[in-house]
Formats: sequence, C-alpha cells, structure tokens
Amino acid sequence: MDRPHITIFDTTLRDGEQSPGCSMNVQEKLRLAQQLDRLGVDAIEAGFPIASDGDFEAVQRIAASVRRPIIAGLARACTGDVDRAWQALQGAARPRIHVFLATSDIHLKYKLRITREQCLEQAREAVRHAKSLCTKSGCGDVEFSPEDATRTDVPFLCQVVEAVITAGATTVNIPDTVGYSMPEEYGQLIRILREKVAGIERVTISTHCHNDLGLAVANSLAGVQEGARQVECTINGIGERAGNASLEEIVMAMRVRPDRYAYETTIASEQLYPSSQVLAEITRVPVQPNKAITGRNAFAHEAGIHQDGMLKNPLTYEIMSPQSVGVPDSRLVLGKHSGRHALALRCEQLGHQFERRELDEVYRKFVVLADRIKKVQDSHLLELIQDVVSGSASNSNAATSQTKKFPPAAATLPFPRALPAVVGVNTGVNPGVNPGVNPNDAHAAHILGSAGQAQVSIAFADRHGEQEDYLWGV
Ligand SMILES: [Zn+2]
Repeated sequence: MDRPHITIFDTTLRDGEQSPGCSMNVQEKLRLAQQLDRLGVDAIEAGFPIASDGDFEAVQRIAASVRRPIIAGLARACTGDVDRAWQALQGAARPRIHVFLATSDIHLKYKLRITREQCLEQAREAVRHAKSLCTKSGCGDVEFSPEDATRTDVPFLCQVVEAVITAGATTVNIPDTVGYSMPEEYGQLIRILREKVAGIERVTISTHCHNDLGLAVANSLAGVQEGARQVECTINGIGERAGNASLEEIVMAMRVRPDRYAYETTIASEQLYPSSQVLAEITRVPVQPNKAITGRNAFAHEAGIHQDGMLKNPLTYEIMSPQSVGVPDSRLVLGKHSGRHALALRCEQLGHQFERRELDEVYRKFVVLADRIKKVQDSHLLELIQDVVSGSASNSNAATSQTKKFPPAAATLPFPRALPAVVGVNTGVNPGVNPGVNPNDAHAAHILGSAGQAQVSIAFADRHGEQEDYLWGV
C-alpha cells in the first residue's frame, strides 16, 4: 500500500472528557483506553496531568497498561506542567508530551496578557524543556499546539511554528479551537504553513477541529488534503462545546471514498460501534439517533421506496454495510437456544470482553432471562452485564430482580441509550465497504424502522430462526 498513512490521535479522554457530563473516573478511563487500543488508534491523549490528581493517575495507569499506541499527556507551556506530564508518562512504552500555548492576539491580550514576543519565547522554552526531558529516555516525541491557530495572524503563526520545530517539536498541531474556520480556509492555512515554514517537512502536521459550525470533520479532511498527516478526533465527536471531529466519520470517509481521500488508517472499523457503545455506557450520554456511523438510525430505513430498494440491493441506499462498522447483525436473535459463542459475540459488539468465568456468569443469568422473555434485546443484555460487572445482583435473588427489571422484548426499552433490535442487512459477504452484493440474496432483510423502535422482519431469520441460533451456540 503506498497510500499515505494518517495518524489517528484520539483525544476522547482529554478534550472529550471536557464536555459537560462526560467526566470519567480512572477505572472508566482505563476501560475506554483499552477499547481504543482494540480500535487501533495510533495515539491516545490520556489526560492533562496537572489538572487534577485523578487525571494524573489516569495517565499513569493508562501509560502502564496500554502499550501499543503512543500515550500523550497535555501540558501548558510552562515548566511545572511539562514536568508533571512527563512524570505521569514515566511508565509509557511510547510517551508523548503535548505542549500548548495560545497564539491569537485575542488570547494573548485578554487571557494570557503577554506580547507576541513573550509568546514566542515561552513556546520555544517549553518545547525545549519537554524535549530535554524525553530525549533522555530516547523517545523525543513532543507535540506543540498553537491554541486558537485559526484566528492567529498567519505570519506570526508561521514564526511560532518555525520556532517550536527548531526547539525540537516533532508534531505541530493546528487547532481550530473555536470551530470558526471553513474547510477551504483551513486547508489553505495548512498549505501556507507547508510553503512558508522552514523545517516543516521534518514534522507531522496535525489537525484539531471543533464542531461549532458543524464543520469539524470537513475541516480535518481539508487539512489532510493539504498535507496534514495526523487527525485529532474523538469517539462520537464528543468534546468542548459542540465537540471535536468525530473519529468514526473521519475514518469511514476515507474508507468509503478512497477515490477522494486516498489515505490509510490502522483503525479496525468493525470496532467503531463497540467503541461508541463503551463511551455512551460509561458517560451515560446517549448517541444522537441520527449520528453518522454510530447512531441507532444510521442504518435504519423507513420510507417504503427505500425499503423496496434495500430488498432488491442494499447498495441502493447503503454506502457501507452495518457490519463494516461493527453494528450487530440483527439476524442473530438472542434467545434461550443461543449458546455462549453467540452471547460472547454480542457482548463484544456492545464493547464488553469477558474472561471465561465472567462469561459463564453472564450466560447463566442470560439463560434464566431468555427463558422468561424469549428475545433478549441489547438493552436487556447491557443491564444484565452491568449486574455481573458490578456484582450487584446476588445469585439468590437474580431471577426475581430480573423479572421486575426486564419487560418482555416488545415493551418500551428500559435503557434509553441502548439500541433497540439493531437494524441491519446481512449481505452474505464479509464485512466491508461496498460489498459486492447479490441483488437476489435471500438474506436481504426487510426493515421496517421507526425512530423509537426499529422493527425488523427478516425472511431468512423467519425460516431458520432458532436452528441458526443454536448452531452459533456450539
Ligand atoms: Zn480542543
């Protein structure tokens, strides 16, 4: 493959966590970091170590246990912050210190109360200090972000970027901190930096776009087209105010349209939906139903003409298969005949990986429940998993508590954030984008969705139903 590689820098745990209602404790951050590792991100910004002891500990624990991706810690451009970030990253296999300093006149004048000259000097010094710390350990990985770059005087921005490259930065990130930029404008800024800044070819240029005007993904892609090779983004697009560029949208735009965006990422796209689910579950912030890629309606078809097209050939209305992004196959109905294998698979799709013993426990409770309510929906399963994970349900009263807790499958879902029976189309081919679908495929699903509760009636499942489930349970 000679397509340029795009580094996916996930900042769900740092910028994302700053969004209202999305704070996470250390244990939750660790769990999400492990899921991000499975997803295949290149870098995880694990926190802002000087911000709190909790953030420090989270960065430290993630650094110690998540070994493949780069682990970044954020620091303002001052010695205390940089030292603290470096301290938190001590155990990391691949540490990165991420230093930031605002460069726009409005930030310099009202927030920092420093001159451009002071700003330049402070940026240079902080990067030099970060570099001296991490060079000793052999990594030398320092990222610098001129905060509010898109509202910074361009010649001054070029000056700052040049200074930090000379001081040892290896990645230069260009944040559209306030979500103000337009795609062409953002792309042009990246182009100017590449043209004017001496030494820019030695560093990775990165995008970091906010979504205040709904343009975060478009701006990031425009930056990539002009030579940026790292994208900072978050799961479900969470982040300050209107959020960050959504990781799943960036990745799938490149995967679905390689004719326009001929770039590679190392993301395992079938982990996108599980990652979205883990985040929603941890933060208890539901995904907006029409959210691209991971929203519950992203693959639902309601209009009659659409359903008709889908039955004849899913490519009429689907540009990617649900399976390619890890949306569970609705043909696999979980019922009392389902075995451990099918159950384990669905748990994984919902973002839960279990050891054998834990799975046995989930399975025991599942069988009791399935006996009672026939079809076990994802929402039921999530509640049951919660019980096992928290150990809150004792064996003796599990059945009774489940009776109260779980209504029959057709009733209103108790878990507003969880998917109802997930709509999807089994194309009979391997998960992938634009699969070569046989229009006469007997597996084609007949989908009757509605905003609240999708109903799925599937010709194939009707015929094979329980037998097929049983086969999965060997
Ligand atoms: Zn941000």
